Amino acid sequence: MRLKKLGLTGKILTGMIAGAIVGFILNKVGVEGTAIQSLLVDGVFRLMGDMFIASLMMLVVPLVFFSLVVGTSSLSDPAMLGRLGGKAIFLYLLTTAVAISIALIVAVKVQPGMGMNLELPPADAFTVKDAPPFIDVLLNMVPRNPVEAMAEGNMLQIIVFALLFGVAIAVSGEPGQRLKVVFEDVNDVIMKLVVMLMYVAPYGVFALMARVFADLGLDMVLSLGKYFGTVFFVLIFHGFVIYPLMLSAMSRLNPRHFLRKMMNVQTFAFSISSSNATIPVNLKNAEQRLGVDNSVASFTIPLGATINMDGTAIMQGVATVFIAQIYGIDLTMTQYLMVIATATLASIGTAGVPGVGLIMLAMVFQQVGLPVEGIALIIGVDRLLDMTRTAVNVTGDAMVTTVIAKSEGKLDEEVYNDPKA
Ligand code: ASP
Repeated sequence: MRLKKLGLTGKILTGMIAGAIVGFILNKVGVEGTAIQSLLVDGVFRLMGDMFIASLMMLVVPLVFFSLVVGTSSLSDPAMLGRLGGKAIFLYLLTTAVAISIALIVAVKVQPGMGMNLELPPADAFTVKDAPPFIDVLLNMVPRNPVEAMAEGNMLQIIVFALLFGVAIAVSGEPGQRLKVVFEDVNDVIMKLVVMLMYVAPYGVFALMARVFADLGLDMVLSLGKYFGTVFFVLIFHGFVIYPLMLSAMSRLNPRHFLRKMMNVQTFAFSISSSNATIPVNLKNAEQRLGVDNSVASFTIPLGATINMDGTAIMQGVATVFIAQIYGIDLTMTQYLMVIATATLASIGTAGVPGVGLIMLAMVFQQVGLPVEGIALIIGVDRLLDMTRTAVNVTGDAMVTTVIAKSEGKLDEEVYNDPKA
């Protein structure tokens, strides 16, 4: 009876907490190698969880494409596109630089690596692929074959193609207008699909959480407690203190509405560890609950999921200080600045998928000359941190989106301020 009264956010949160409790109990009981592990954890939970992620992923490419084409083709003023892009890239870089700076300051204060007696991993414990040269990153933004870009889910390429396609529709006169109506209809239908998926979300989230917690090396979390605690603290601080401050400073909006309306998006991001897979939910939330116009959200949300990783940068800041301490390396001021610059720029080329933050971390380490194999030390606790930082990443995308929408007169403040929206 009571469950019926819970809104969707409440149900998803319930699924998340219940899943974490069930997983935690299974972990404590020790089910590894038993039938419970193979039938329940790797059977039912895996099936439910992975199917749920797959169905969200299924919507990402069509949703981003159709929504962005509709958004761009509706822009009354073509100059707005350039302005939106400029503002978005500037704010995304700025928030990431702020995030990693806070992380470095806190980590230097807390000294997470002090007093730790960890055995150093062997030199080949973690190897890296070289970062592509910056010019290649730019070159790769233009798809040679848009169908291939979509098949591969290459978000930046899809964004570029959709933008061009949308602009072409806008300047194509009557044929453009006819096509636009069709795109709008397809977009509405895909949005409906997102809503339909939301009905099963509490179960999907439950299964994902139960599985993660059943498999989690909780002892590892304890042994790396200081590192884990520092990253976790800065992530929460950034999400619940810095973002609201930035939001009210830059747009004079009441951040309390924002935080409350972000809860279900954060729960999603947390349980699936992927900004990309959260795009449909984040986009729907931005448009329907925060009141951001589609012409802004359809562009800035997918772009943010691709280039804006504040939570990831926070983990990288703390990890850099931690590993430097473990290896007894003193970082100079120049190296700290280099960490800020590298992590901020590296976040552009990173896809919002699980665990990729660690791979980027290797690039940061290489830049400042820290032993890359040190990453092997923190892999064990990264899963839970990945979940938390993804929640921060998507919150940053929505915050910047709201700020830009407000500045462009594309925010419906009545919707934003309506607690029931
Ligand atoms: N999982 C993160 C995301 O999708 C990226 C990372 O930090 O690994 O946003």
